[in-house]
Amino acid sequence: MKRVLCLLAFLYAVHETHAVEYSVTNNALATPGGVAFRDKIGAEYAKQTLDSATKFIWNVFQQNNPADRKNVQKVSLFVDDMDGVAYTSNDQIHLSARYVGNYNGDVKREITGVLYHEMVHVWQWNGNGGAPGGLIEGIADYVRLKANYAPSHWVKPGQGQKWDQGYDVTARFLDYCDSLKSGFVAQLNKLMRSGYSDQFFVQLLGKSVDQLWRDYKAKYGNIA
Ligand SMILES: [Zn+2]
Repeated sequence: MKRVLCLLAFLYAVHETHAVEYSVTNNALATPGGVAFRDKIGAEYAKQTLDSATKFIWNVFQQNNPADRKNVQKVSLFVDDMDGVAYTSNDQIHLSARYVGNYNGDVKREITGVLYHEMVHVWQWNGNGGAPGGLIEGIADYVRLKANYAPSHWVKPGQGQKWDQGYDVTARFLDYCDSLKSGFVAQLNKLMRSGYSDQFFVQLLGKSVDQLWRDYKAKYGNIA
């Protein structure tokens, strides 16, 4: 009996540590953007980036235990001939070949940042669908910021109109919140596993999110 239990524990451990699989499919090779992806980024680099992003995200979210994470076995990246930048659904990341082809500057660094952002959507909790969209996007950009892939066109700290404006504005605000209590974003994401409430800010930092936003704006002289 003891031996059977040992075997079960072993099989469970093997299963739990099974690595995430990644695939990259370039559906836009007939377009200049698809060719630019192939020549300036490449499937192999993209795959490595998906893997590094996953490990970085687990670390930021303090998800050391597989039980803390979403159960995702495979993440697929598609380079598509489409408008916009990128989107993620059902563990599939879709990257715009047109965006790659038209980007002026260090396109490899930019797409690395985009992939970090999209990969957060694969792993983050969304409050069972109840979290504000701006917060979801803010957390994705917060991770991108922490990975040092924030582009130069982002707002500066203290800029923006409201805390859940999303993207860079919310990312900078979350960075401020995390400076008040290290690990704040990881704790917030944990709380968002089963639902969402603005009260999570009170729970973690002792102040309402509106008060925190006022404090944040005041710290930077209430710039626009
Ligand atoms: Zn996003």
